[in-house]
Amino acid sequence: MAPVAPTKPDLASRPIDMHVHVVGNGTGGTGCWLRVTGWHRPLAALMLRHIGLPGDAMSGDLDGLCVELLLKQIRCSSLGGAVILAQDQVHDDQGKVMADPGAFYVPNDYVIALARKHSEFLPAVSIHPARPDALEELERCLAAGAVMMKCLPNCQNINCADRRFTRFWERMAEAKLPLLAHTGGEHTLPVVQPAYADPRILTLPLECGVTVIAAHCATKSGLFDPEYFHVFAEMTRRFPNLYGDTSAFNVPIRGRHVPECLKEPLVGRMVHGSDFPVPVYGHWAWMRGSVNWKSFRRCQRERNLLERDYQLKVAMGFPPETFTRIRGLLRNGKAGEGIAGGKGR
Ligand SMILES: [Zn+2]
Repeated sequence: MAPVAPTKPDLASRPIDMHVHVVGNGTGGTGCWLRVTGWHRPLAALMLRHIGLPGDAMSGDLDGLCVELLLKQIRCSSLGGAVILAQDQVHDDQGKVMADPGAFYVPNDYVIALARKHSEFLPAVSIHPARPDALEELERCLAAGAVMMKCLPNCQNINCADRRFTRFWERMAEAKLPLLAHTGGEHTLPVVQPAYADPRILTLPLECGVTVIAAHCATKSGLFDPEYFHVFAEMTRRFPNLYGDTSAFNVPIRGRHVPECLKEPLVGRMVHGSDFPVPVYGHWAWMRGSVNWKSFRRCQRERNLLERDYQLKVAMGFPPETFTRIRGLLRNGKAGEGIAGGKGR
């Protein structure tokens, strides 16, 4: 009998990493920029080395190298695709760009173009709702095939509770475009409004009917950050449209609440994200007893970071639905099939 090649699971049913950053310095006319200063410099260098990019990538073709690396990692992993995130600029409450606190910028058109070219990518756009053209930009991105909207209220200065943004949230809800919002402390990017790390700021979009995903489940990042995890957990009981992602759970502090995230009913609200290029270390999960020694060693040997993060979360006990649930939440989220054709809905 002729040997039968092992069949790869159908791309469209494989796990999705819904929290992946693409970064760049604008090489190749991508429009991206990156400003790394002070103590963020060694942190950025560490991240680059950790993900497997050369030390001089920052001043070279960072944009191209980052995309190439991501495609390679996705193709050699258990994943069917990844949601790549745009990053809007910091704006003040009047919608004017605040140049100083901006650390990096990734244009919506860049992630949309990448997703058109590579079926492994799904585009999440980023729009500050105070921008004078916010609604127009939202319509443009919807027509271009955006699957999600990403924002960092505390770093981008977005007061999601501002009533002036009601129409913006209502339009997102109507278009079934989910919102991925950073919650909890942040130490990789400059923070403009620390109070906006509180997930309660997301009440207005939730009330408007937007599907909201609280990045990191509002866990704290630094030792002295306020802890909002239990606020998030309580909110999931009130809002059936609130979810939490597991991104950056493999850094020292954020993974502390994994045991609670694995329990009913919270486990039914979890979606898988890595927060690439944030480092992935299994040590913390092992020290807390979330993974056993054998799994820790096996995962740690895995050099593909997207795969390592996925394997660690499987070893922690996250059920298979955690890794595919996002398909039902994304707009036009036929992950693994890309957005070729860019049809809006
Ligand atoms: Zn992130």
